[in-house]
Amino acid sequence: MNYFKTSKLPDVGTTIFTVMSRLAEQQGAINLGQGFPDFNCDPRLQSLVAEAMHAGHNQYAPMAGLAALRQAIATKNARLYGHHYDPDTEITVTAGGTQALMTAVLAAVRPGDEVIVLEPVYDSYVPAIRLAGGSPVYVQLNADDYGVPWDAVRAAVTHRTRMLIVNSPHNPSGAIFSGADLDALETIVRDTGILLLADEVYEHIVFDGLPHQSLSRRPALAERAFVVSSFGKTFHTTGWKVGYCCAPAELSTEFRKVHQFMVFAVSTPMQHALAAWLADPSHYETLPAFYQAKRDRFRSGLATSRFRMLPCPGTYFQLADYSAISTETEEAFATRLTMEHGVAAIPVAAFHTRPVERCMVRFCFGKKNETLDRALERLNKI
Ligand code: PMP
Ligand code: GLN
Repeated sequence: MNYFKTSKLPDVGTTIFTVMSRLAEQQGAINLGQGFPDFNCDPRLQSLVAEAMHAGHNQYAPMAGLAALRQAIATKNARLYGHHYDPDTEITVTAGGTQALMTAVLAAVRPGDEVIVLEPVYDSYVPAIRLAGGSPVYVQLNADDYGVPWDAVRAAVTHRTRMLIVNSPHNPSGAIFSGADLDALETIVRDTGILLLADEVYEHIVFDGLPHQSLSRRPALAERAFVVSSFGKTFHTTGWKVGYCCAPAELSTEFRKVHQFMVFAVSTPMQHALAAWLADPSHYETLPAFYQAKRDRFRSGLATSRFRMLPCPGTYFQLADYSAISTETEEAFATRLTMEHGVAAIPVAAFHTRPVERCMVRFCFGKKNETLDRALERLNKI
């Protein structure tokens, strides 16, 4: 029997992050591919999880998330972005940003709907749109700085546009929104029924003293937005898979209908620990300086190499142009970099639906300094 003659996701294979991490492991290469820290989270945060377990918090958490954690998220959001979400009706704790994104799309997008995405696009958005029966509509980010060409976004809007997905700070480019981007977005969605899905998982990794321009800062955007974040990025706990979605009550009600049958609830001891940890703002306020030092170490270490560095205002990713080294495709170059030079990277082509004429790979600098230094030594020899 051929049970899956028609796949629901015919174009989907194993994600590039898994493929490159596997190759790095097989080859014993330094893994600057998949985005995760190679250092541990704070031991006090780990102790809080153990304490929660020992205190008996080992059964289902409330469906929408532990009340104390939702309150802590509401407090943080009001403090940073001036928008107060009601923790009871507007904040839902999810199994990472990934589940929040999938849940928002499945809750909102109906068969025949169009969803605008910006390319290069994070790998989970389009499969989510397809599973919901919607159609992705692609707008290319500016080639030079990965800024959003808002006129092109406006031109892509039709009467079928249900949602626009944005991502700032942006994976893979590190580009971030400015206030002017939020202005442009406001103008486009005004007097429309378009929903917004804002992937803000790198909200606390923004450099050079710049603010994170959360969509929740603007009432006209917040009223129609699912704003997604992830503790994996903020507290060096990508393996815990805890994130959240903030959205007005009407949107959150629909979000929770899907959420409760997708996961019902998220790991209880982790939620207790994160609620306590969030109470001290220094735990996220110190993050920009921490990662900026790594960014600067990595960039200055490659300054005299044959890689050309693109600007990196946010995230823990650095794009590098290798056209002075090779004209190979990005996949071929990233594979050879891993196998011959012992450093794994992600081909940016993996974030595109069509072949791109660029020579660009993404390095993750969210690593120990010694890991970065070993990688730099190898990259400088190429
Ligand atoms: N969105 C973006 C842009 C990401 O880079 C990631 C993870 N690297 C996610 C969402 C998913 O977050 P999580 O690991 O919390 O599921
Ligand atoms: N989002 C991470 C990255 O961009 C990887 C997460 C995953 O492997 N799904 O590297």
